Amino acid sequence: MATFKLDVVTAERVVYSDDVDMVVAPGVEGQLGILPHHAPLMTMLQPGELLVKKGTEESCIAITGGYLEVRPDRVVVLADAAERAEDIDVCRAEEAMKRAQQRLKERPTGLDATRAEAALRRAFIRLQTVEKAKQRRARLHRK
Ligand code: ATP
Repeated sequence: MATFKLDVVTAERVVYSDDVDMVVAPGVEGQLGILPHHAPLMTMLQPGELLVKKGTEESCIAITGGYLEVRPDRVVVLADAAERAEDIDVCRAEEAMKRAQQRLKERPTGLDATRAEAALRRAFIRLQTVEKAKQRRARLHRK
């Protein structure tokens, strides 16, 4: 079966790099499915979950936004921040979520609400990615 090279990178590190069968990415205009030989494309990503299929393996990667480029020889995701589900620190994300919720509830003077909302969204995406990865694993075990 045809595959293609996927690189998921941030300014700090390479998060994922492998030959894969399919990617589903959170495009700004909706979910974007990429299969081998997809036409060249450049699009922005919104915070969400990147799903990667390689054989029977499925990987979930939390993305906090960025760009996706389909090049003739590979697909590159340049993310603001990205973590594979298994690398997400759940306690840290829960704390970040609580902090953001608290700020938005108390509305202290000088609060940057947009920033607090973005922090809340990042934490939510991270927790959701961990949850979805768990559900996928359970589904695969049942098969
Ligand atoms: P926090 O307030 O906990 O730092 P944040 O949303 O402000 O969260 P970011 O600025 O998005 O964090 O990311 C900073 C770095 O920390 C990135 O490298 C990101 O991958 C990593 N990171 C953030 N939260 C987590 C987490 N819950 N688990 C693992 N890595 C994380």
